Amino acid sequence: MSQTAKSQPIIQMRGVTKRFGNFAALRQIDLDIEAGEVVVLLGPSGSGKSTLIRCINLLETYDEGDVVVDGIRVEEGRALRQVREEVGMVFQAFNLFPNLTVLDNIALGPVRVRKLSWAAAREKARRLLARVGIAEQADKYPIQLSGGQQQRVGIARALAMEPRVLLFDEPTSALDPEMVGEVLDVIKGLAGSGTTMLLVTHEMGFARKVADRIVFMEAGEIKEIASPDTFFTRPESERAQAFLDAVL
Ligand code: ADP
Ligand code: MG
Repeated sequence: MSQTAKSQPIIQMRGVTKRFGNFAALRQIDLDIEAGEVVVLLGPSGSGKSTLIRCINLLETYDEGDVVVDGIRVEEGRALRQVREEVGMVFQAFNLFPNLTVLDNIALGPVRVRKLSWAAAREKARRLLARVGIAEQADKYPIQLSGGQQQRVGIARALAMEPRVLLFDEPTSALDPEMVGEVLDVIKGLAGSGTTMLLVTHEMGFARKVADRIVFMEAGEIKEIASPDTFFTRPESERAQAFLDAVL
């Protein structure tokens, strides 16, 4: 982090407001994420965490303000494709292609977008499968894998695009409890290797260990930004304390 502190943040959000009809799901969000940083978004259900993440790769459009990823303003049009190439997303529901093998789920993006040959993309996919610990699952179809294995494919697929930032929206919430740890271990490994990440999770122990900063949201606003130790031991706001009392 420190060696890049002077450079432009990878993600800059300024005054971002998102409305669904008259309801403001995000209100004037300001947030910078530096290269190599791991930021965990916490907050009660409905506080706007998913909406914030989705505005970064324009899965949601925003109504006011600016989102800038690696110097590119996130907006409809030509910039969108460029931004999507820089921002990887891992979803709660895996969202794998059921009719493609595990290997080809990972290889498809590099073939389509990065114009790699299938042979080169599959070789890359094999390396990534090894990295997430499931090299032996390459030729199966998603439905033949456990949930934890499927999510590890989801992570490998995001990594295959060599994104500048990885976004995770509750990556373990759909998993049976015994599979949560294996997915968190993969994410922890990425955090340790300097991947820039913005992550929504309900795994508080994990959040405390892996985060460089905690961003606490409520009712569409950022209420508090703190180091994990500060946030979990002496949060500034009563809201954050109430949230911690409810979840810990
Ligand atoms: P979180 O991820 O923190 O649980 P969300 O970002 O999903 O919260 O949602 C924030 C608020 O915006 C919630 O009140 C939710 O009901 C509302 N919301 C989210 N998506 C939509 C949508 N497509 N249409 C209308 N309201 C939405
Ligand atoms: Mg959500």
